[in-house]
Amino acid sequence: MKLLVIGEARDGELRNVTFEAVAAAKKIDSDAEIVGVLCGSDDLNESGQEVIYHGADRVVTVTHDNLESYTSEGYSQAVMAVIEDESPDGIVMGHTAIGKDLTPKLAAKLGTGLISDATDIENDGDKAVFTRPIYSGKAFEKKVMTSGLTFATIRPNNIPALERDASRSGDVTSKEVDVKDINTVIKDVIRKASEGVDLSEANVIVAGGRGVKSAEGFEPLYELADILGGAVGASRGACDAEYCDYSLQIGQTGKVVTPDLYIAVGISGAIQHLAGMSNSKVIVAINKDPEANIFNVADYGIVGDIFEVIPKLTEELKQTV
Ligand SMILES: Cc1cc2nc3c(=O)[nH]c(=O)nc-3n(C[C@H](O)[C@H](O)[C@H](O)COP(=O)(O)OP(=O)(O)OC[C@H]3O[C@@H](n4cnc5c(N)ncnc54)[C@H](O)[C@@H]3O)c2cc1C
Repeated sequence: MKLLVIGEARDGELRNVTFEAVAAAKKIDSDAEIVGVLCGSDDLNESGQEVIYHGADRVVTVTHDNLESYTSEGYSQAVMAVIEDESPDGIVMGHTAIGKDLTPKLAAKLGTGLISDATDIENDGDKAVFTRPIYSGKAFEKKVMTSGLTFATIRPNNIPALERDASRSGDVTSKEVDVKDINTVIKDVIRKASEGVDLSEANVIVAGGRGVKSAEGFEPLYELADILGGAVGASRGACDAEYCDYSLQIGQTGKVVTPDLYIAVGISGAIQHLAGMSNSKVIVAINKDPEANIFNVADYGIVGDIFEVIPKLTEELKQTV
């Protein structure tokens, strides 16, 4: 079996989900040949090596000026050219903003199905069984591909990447593709999210709700997130109240996250918020209302005023972390 893994980089750095996608391909078939695909406008040789260190057997790169920024037209031309060359049995990519945009287009071109947003993969002997959340994370379904390519996207932070092994070797080859007829022009990229850890890939998230009361009220959350090496998120309540940018919103109409640790600060736990975070591995809720719904999904609950609890927690963690 040959499986293609479509990688993703940001600001020249490979995103961890690329390595997770390699691990996912291994879960589909541990004996498969895994071929990474990287697109961009700069030299991708070093990035290609990293993908090999994380488990791929070889990597094909496509570089072209028209691939400097992601466009579905440009990337689909580049990746389709590699797919035509390689004739893989399956394709895996991260269920990221780019993955969500690119993979349905590729699946339509290939006339095949797509299992999106898988959180786990088991191999039951002759086929891969994909687990994916449905009904905003309230239930899970298991899916198998019955015909055509095994084509899947995986949710970031669910399938651990393989350990980096710098003794692994493999070829990084480049493929010439004339990427043309791009109708979309990227004029500027304005990053609204804060610098530092990417929210959708963060292992620790400190999320603030309307209980934080103001934009200034978010500052201690950034400090706490910093100590824990995490990112700051928010409820829609906090975004609507203009305490923070909508790029931080977690939930049904925001980002879906599954960090190892989710600290919900002054968030009531509306069903739409839970849809984006209830699959986090450990949930800590801080709320002054003991009846708040967030406590129903929390592993640890602190009933108290966040303006007293957060400074104490931060002080304590400063000593220990
Ligand atoms: C179609 C639709 C889509 C939606 N999508 C989303 C989504 O993606 N994400 C999302 O989050 N919401 C979403 N919502 C909104 C959602 O229904 C809630 O309104 C929102 O999540 C509430 O945000 P909140 O918990 O911050 O605010 P609130 O519900 O007002 O809760 C604030 C909490 O802070 C606590 N609190 C206040 N002061 C303190 C204090 N000093 N110390 C400790 N605790 C304190 C209160 O006890 C309360 O529990 C959506 C709604 C709709 C209709």
